[in-house]
Amino acid sequence: MTGYPATHHCNKCKEQTPHREILVRKPSEYDGDTSLLGRVKLFVSSVINGGYYYNMNRYVTCNVCGTKELDNKGNEFE
Ligand SMILES: [Zn+2]
Repeated sequence: MTGYPATHHCNKCKEQTPHREILVRKPSEYDGDTSLLGRVKLFVSSVINGGYYYNMNRYVTCNVCGTKELDNKGNEFE
């Protein structure tokens, strides 16, 4: 992910601070299946559902205070 602004408004710091962006895959119905076939199903399911990013939760972690926030708002500019 390049081009993403390195700063984000932190609710705890109450200002723009440097943040890291973390992508975490949303839970899937196949997550309990650790077999190779289960992994394949998971991959196929991800593709069918529109690719990886559709199934990702985006978190931003404040580099100053360490607060992790869910940030799935998309293209929202301040
Ligand atoms: Zn902070």
